[in-house]
Amino acid sequence: MEQPKYKRVVLKLSGEAMAGNQGFGIEANTIHSIATQVKELIELNVEVAVVVGGGNIWRGISGSSQGIDRATADYMGMLATVMNSLALQDALETIEVPTRVQTSIEMQQIAEPYIRRRAIRHLEKGRVVIFASGTGNPFFSTDTTAALRAAEIEAEVILMAKNNVDGVYSADPKLDPDAQKYDQLTYMEVLNKNLGVMDSTASSLCMDNHIPLLVFSIMEEGNIKRAILGEKIGTLVKG
Ligand code: UDP
Repeated sequence: MEQPKYKRVVLKLSGEAMAGNQGFGIEANTIHSIATQVKELIELNVEVAVVVGGGNIWRGISGSSQGIDRATADYMGMLATVMNSLALQDALETIEVPTRVQTSIEMQQIAEPYIRRRAIRHLEKGRVVIFASGTGNPFFSTDTTAALRAAEIEAEVILMAKNNVDGVYSADPKLDPDAQKYDQLTYMEVLNKNLGVMDSTASSLCMDNHIPLLVFSIMEEGNIKRAILGEKIGTLVKG
């Protein structure tokens, strides 16, 4: 059997990754493809926790630019992540991958509350744990959630799956033809060069807790497995 490089991972899916080419909302085929890729990890006995964003539905910052109170707009964003998490849960269970959704904001009719030790137990039993509603706090992001949960559950790496770019570049490759892709970076370089891999809160948390981050494209099928097997894809950011 192929040997995974990591035993326990946090997979960060941006909300946009759920929308596929339609750019907004939830696209069923795209989620099915993601679920199939996650299943490949479970088959390799990798413990997988997923943090899902919400930008395909609602972002707090855009709401607040329209005059909605920022904290309220952020709570709306956290609710968007719950919708995405339930869609992913459904897609995974359709292909017989056991899952649990845990929310940072209690909504017990639809998901478990976030309980760290219980999450770890689910992972040990081979269930995919989907962390929904971010950190539960406004003014944070789901990237910070991924960093926080990765530290809490002692994940070895955060796999940051992107649907619009295949790694970290010196400039936006869509706007600048001279943009260079990095194979490896430190968090200090990410922060100093303002590379926009993740927000500075998330980068600092990863740096302080020595959690590596692999940024790669999810648009190529099988890439999550390649990442797990340690193939050279994307950009690796380390402390
Ligand atoms: N959010 C929040 N606190 C958190 C996580 C998320 O307030 O801990 C809100 C915030 O408004 C954010 C939205 O949820 O804009 C969606 O999350 P994010 O923008 O991180 O999603 P992504 O960019 O990954 O799709």
